[in-house]
Amino acid sequence: MDELLKVTDLHVYYGMIHAIRGISFEVKRGEIVTLIGANGAGKTTTLHTITGLLPSSGGEVVYNGQNITHVPGYQLVRRGLAHVPEGRRVFSQLSVLQNLELGAFTRRSKEEKAESLKEIYRRFPRLAERKNQLAGTLSGGEQQMLAMGRALMSKPEMLVLDEPSMGLSPIYVNEIFDIIKSIHESGTTVLLVEQNAKKALSIANRAYVLETGTIRLSGTAEELLHNAEVKSAYLSE
Ligand code: ATP
Repeated sequence: MDELLKVTDLHVYYGMIHAIRGISFEVKRGEIVTLIGANGAGKTTTLHTITGLLPSSGGEVVYNGQNITHVPGYQLVRRGLAHVPEGRRVFSQLSVLQNLELGAFTRRSKEEKAESLKEIYRRFPRLAERKNQLAGTLSGGEQQMLAMGRALMSKPEMLVLDEPSMGLSPIYVNEIFDIIKSIHESGTTVLLVEQNAKKALSIANRAYVLETGTIRLSGTAEELLHNAEVKSAYLSE
């Protein structure tokens, strides 16, 4: 498998705070890779830097063989990298359909858009049922589906997901993870940030454990599920 994303010695500051302290990791084409870690470890900061929402102050991000370290987010969508941010961020005053259409801004033809929409409705029947409903009136789980559906409208090669299970009831958590699995099975590479380490490791190929802006551990998901340190710090319920 070849590398789709390669992050090398990345550093990010918020003013004087050195939030990301030289992390390196990669995601190979076809993998699900998860970044796990406690609150404040730097997971969201890492994703925002990769997807062009935050500037880095050192290091390099290469996507599909191209240096994207300083490329803004909207251009990355055109290159096949889509980001579903933490907290969903759907446009609450717009309908489900309007939100999905916004996700298709990179698609050229009406036919392509219609095709993607059909595919999203097949994957998320609940969004089809609610296509005219205002997004702000959807439940948390439905909003997460909408945010994922919106990102998928651009037919990304790689999907970056930030805490998709946050704040959801256990039933929705299972549903969202099943959906991530099926998106991956249909050929999309996934970079997943999660606090629910157990769930994330159960669907991932490989994982990195972040601690105060550094990578503390890495390995296959299977290895980390059985790692004593990971077990006591992240897997106890
Ligand atoms: P969480 O799961 O709570 O979102 P995280 O692992 O995603 O945690 P980040 O949100 O990336 O962690 O935060 C990493 C560090 O950077 C933390 O110490 C945090 O306080 C700091 N930080 C994050 N955003 C800002 C900001 N806008 N200004 C200053 N410091 C920030």
